[in-house]
Amino acid sequence: MNSSRDIRVPADGTGPGIDRKALWVVTELGLPTIVKACVSCRSTRHHPTGKIRVNANHKLLDVWLLIGCELCGRTWKVPVHERVNVRALEHERLLMFENNDPAIVRQLTMDATLAHKAAYQLDWTGTWQLDTDTPFYDLQHEDAAPIEVIIRFELPAPVRVERLLTTGFGLSRPAVRDMVDSGRIRLPLPIDAKAREDFTFLVVTAPPPSPEPR
Ligand SMILES: [Zn+2]
Repeated sequence: MNSSRDIRVPADGTGPGIDRKALWVVTELGLPTIVKACVSCRSTRHHPTGKIRVNANHKLLDVWLLIGCELCGRTWKVPVHERVNVRALEHERLLMFENNDPAIVRQLTMDATLAHKAAYQLDWTGTWQLDTDTPFYDLQHEDAAPIEVIIRFELPAPVRVERLLTTGFGLSRPAVRDMVDSGRIRLPLPIDAKAREDFTFLVVTAPPPSPEPR
């Protein structure tokens, strides 16, 4: 969304001077599901209702994100702020709470710290897709110049690096692992790591394993 965001360049000095670049974007399809046991039914899946509740008691505020059970609809309040002094909250943020601003509902729903505090899990399945619209280069071309692939995250969905590579290149897991092991793909983080923010990696010249059709 914000095209001017900083992109990290590999620390090995190969970043500058690479003039072929591809942009892969982890685009947002929806909000994560909030996973916690419902007290009324057997479901564990909850979604934000789109509402935020603010209670004022003199100068102290309570703020909750309201979520509803996917199956029975029972609502539950996720504490966002408890007994916080009104002056401790940015006025703009307070207005967003009071207006059920979708941007703040989105932000709270994706907030891993809040999830941890309120003891629920986030299920990111189906919340993203990888868009590789940038005209892609020919992996099979032997004298193809090195290329820098920039991965940009529109949402902080944790995605295994291996999955980004198999999806982005249309290659099998063994093929992608071979390319990493042989140094053709140079990653700034382990292939088994989960990424959730922007990073950049390099693909260097050599004949690849035969790609599956995209
Ligand atoms: Zn329920």
